[in-house]
Amino acid sequence: MAEKILNNIISINDASYIYKAHDEDRQDVTAVSGIDLSIEKGEFLVILGRNGSGKSTLARLMNALLLPDHGTVFVNGFDTSDEKLIWEIRRSTGMVFQNPDNQIVGTIVEEDVAFGPENLGVPSEEIRRRVDEALDTVGMADYKKHAPHLLSGGQKQRVAIAGILTMRPECIVLDEATAMLDPVGRKEVMRVLKKLNADEGITIILITHNMDEAASASRVAVMEKGNLAMLGTPREVFMNVARIKNLGLDVPQVTELVYELNRKGFKLPQDILTVDEAFECLSKILSE
Ligand code: ADP
Ligand code: MG
Repeated sequence: MAEKILNNIISINDASYIYKAHDEDRQDVTAVSGIDLSIEKGEFLVILGRNGSGKSTLARLMNALLLPDHGTVFVNGFDTSDEKLIWEIRRSTGMVFQNPDNQIVGTIVEEDVAFGPENLGVPSEEIRRRVDEALDTVGMADYKKHAPHLLSGGQKQRVAIAGILTMRPECIVLDEATAMLDPVGRKEVMRVLKKLNADEGITIILITHNMDEAASASRVAVMEKGNLAMLGTPREVFMNVARIKNLGLDVPQVTELVYELNRKGFKLPQDILTVDEAFECLSKILSE
């Protein structure tokens, strides 16, 4: 158990969270219920689930914004219920939220990005270095002196990610951070996340409704009514097309196409995820 906790960036053990009703007319809501989930360093995990399934609550448990009512959550080996460790936990696991405008704290980009290390009392020379490096990483170095509120949604989210990078995180949790973006902004943010994951080994946990983003993850978790309904590689998860649809979700378009063709009598492997794979299989069949 101890070893498991140390090797995992996040270790969630039988964790539950209940929103307590504050007046008698309302009932308590169990938002997360007995979840077990271990996330290894360097994973790119996508979390899916219909609205109200508990994704945001789970995300907040991952950086001690919420504490479990039952069970434990460890981040980087630290128990989130240990108050002394809360700043270390928040530093190591940064959060990006859905609405980019709510996350802006500075009047120019470099000031905004410097906010975290300034609060930690990092020396100013070191802050400048970290800010330049972080803006460079997210492709926003040219916007250093710009006003954040004038940027596009995708640029704002990349600035938010830069702000997290200045804290030298092990992990970034993004709660529907691509949901309000146009396709270009979405692609820009995904490109940055892929780069951070591949080049710097930063663990990415992405909550999304976008199935193409999910298809490119290393693992996919599906939430339903506070429970973990499915967990596996994108292939393992998306080949269960009927089950995914039952959970109120879509599958990647190519997977859907293969599913419909198979219902019409084709015999394609149902774990196809990409256009290239579908093309290869179909051209083989059609040339027979
Ligand atoms: P998701 O992010 O998947 O939409 P949430 O974690 O936001 O799910 O919500 C899970 C459940 O908890 C839902 O039933 C939701 O209505 C409830 N919930 C979320 N936030 C609160 C809150 N602050 N107070 C009471 N209930 C809440
Ligand atoms: Mg949510």
